[in-house]
Formats: sequence, C-alpha cells, structure tokens
Amino acid sequence: MGALLHQAIDIEALCAERGLRITEQRRVIAQVLSESTDHPDVEKLHERASARDPRISIATVYRTVRLFEEAGILDRHDFGDGRARYEATPEAHHDHLIDVETGKVIEFVDPELEALQRQIAERLGYRLVDHRMELYGVKSDREA
Ligand SMILES: [Zn+2]
Repeated sequence: MGALLHQAIDIEALCAERGLRITEQRRVIAQVLSESTDHPDVEKLHERASARDPRISIATVYRTVRLFEEAGILDRHDFGDGRARYEATPEAHHDHLIDVETGKVIEFVDPELEALQRQIAERLGYRLVDHRMELYGVKSDREA
C-alpha cells in the first residue's frame, strides 16, 4: 500500500523551481530522497548517499535535509523514537501507521477520517488547513 501512495517525487526539479542552488552532493542526496519510500532518518540517508559518493559527510546530509525542509520540499516526521525521519513532501496527503515493534511505516488514506477531522475543526470554529495523524500499533497476529 505504501509503495502505491508514494509516487517518486523529483526533488531536483523542485529545487530548481524554488531557486535552490543544486550542488553535486545535494543532487545525490535529492536522488536518494526521491527514491526512498521508507521514511529514512539522516543516518540511513547518509548510508545511501555515501554509497554513491563517499565524499558526502553526515554533516552535509544534515545541512541538506534542513535546507530542503525549509524550502518545503521535504517533510520531517517524528514517529515516537526521537529520530527525525524524512520523506519528499507528497503531492497527495496521506497518514501513517507505525509498527512499534519493527519501526515499519505504513501509509494510508481514509476519506471518512479526513471528513471527520474537517467536521471536528468546524465544530470548534475552525477551517482545517492541515493535520497529522499517526497511529502506533503492533501486529494483531503477534498478540496471541
Ligand atoms: Zn509518508
């Protein structure tokens, strides 16, 4: 399901649109981010980027993700383990379910849930402009 929701997003093109200078190292990091569907943290991103260009340091990855995040082309998540995890800002909204035992992240969209959240905001006198929904769970067949 996650793979279906996750269209590859061309971070390089988005950088160009926003006038971000794209260096060789930033390009590699952008490519790795565009291809990642698993919401990697900085360490994992560094592992993948340095496999392509060993000159890329973890400090460069930190700086680059911050830059991309400030430019609004990268979403930062905190899935409860205290580590920031990243994904290219999706074109279509989705929410996340996190398997607390394996750390696996599953993406989902539920139209009823979306509508309910809008209604709750309206009831409280607001027009909803954004939300984040994170579900934390263990596989039910592991409970037995
Ligand atoms: Zn996601």
